[in-house]
Amino acid sequence: MTDKPARIKIAIQKSGRLTEQSLDLLQRCGLKYTRGPDQLIAFGENMPVDVLLVRDDDIPGLVRDDVCDLGIAGLNIVEEKRLHFLEQDPVTPFQIIRSLDFGHCRLAFAYPDGSPLRTVRDLAGKKVATSYPSIVRDYLQRNNIDAGVVEFSGAVEIAPSLGRAEAICDLVSTGSTLLANKLREGETILESRAVILQTPVAVPAEKTEWINRLLQRLEGVMQVRESKYIMMHAPKSALAQIAALLPGSEAPTVLPLDSRDDRVAVHVVCRENVFWETLEALKSAGATSILVVPVEKMLA
Ligand code: ATP
Ligand code: ZN
Repeated sequence: MTDKPARIKIAIQKSGRLTEQSLDLLQRCGLKYTRGPDQLIAFGENMPVDVLLVRDDDIPGLVRDDVCDLGIAGLNIVEEKRLHFLEQDPVTPFQIIRSLDFGHCRLAFAYPDGSPLRTVRDLAGKKVATSYPSIVRDYLQRNNIDAGVVEFSGAVEIAPSLGRAEAICDLVSTGSTLLANKLREGETILESRAVILQTPVAVPAEKTEWINRLLQRLEGVMQVRESKYIMMHAPKSALAQIAALLPGSEAPTVLPLDSRDDRVAVHVVCRENVFWETLEALKSAGATSILVVPVEKMLA
């Protein structure tokens, strides 16, 4: 057996809805890379991390087979493959180690306009078209609904008009595709977002250190996206009221103001977005010179 070089391999989607945000996330974690000539691999220049660019459907398999240590894919694909792999072999194929803050969508049933079908209960004896046969079969089974599943690899929404199925189960984000195909959205069976997968194989120590570092930075990056640093002048008497108005904040830093006994400067990091309504409420509580600035980096 030859030793694998101790570089971490991360699989992400090559070209699609998750690509830009996956690369952005890695860059924000400090990764600088050069693309290989075939564009299939991006070599990390400043960290022992390489990025494999592949179809999202291949990511769970690459992580299961330990070709990649980590992968970023939608929970929809991950869950479909997990159930599919378990049908073949009852060992945990990979671990889902983090949920990310992008790629939000839902896997939902939809019924043609004018169809008598209203809920999944009405599907008994009918057929559902989907690209997620394992998830749908599992859901139907758990709910004791005896319906057929027809697998479509794409354009699932046209299945009812082709007479291939009476309903569909597909990804929805805004619902405009359903509307355009005269379909009515029904039950959601999976709320999805991008997640990070890790190989089921024990990671060697020399890789663990960098993986942990990457994950810690990633947490910082996700927190920072929403976080704001707020500064203001406030009456001492209103400090408790002001602290209560600040969303997701720790204890504020309170500093004296030159030649003012009644007012202080208040500095605080809010780990949630700060809306105009909050600023207006702070002003009503007596705060002045309110400044809200973005946070560049954070290490908790
Ligand atoms: P690939 O060529 O990599 O197989 P794809 O066509 O299967 O690409 P995309 O359409 O790029 O995949 O979607 C990738 C992922 O983005 C989905 O699996 C899902 O997790 C997420 N996603 C977010 N919003 C939507 C949406 N409205 N429709 C479909 N997927 C969405
Ligand atoms: Zn795909």
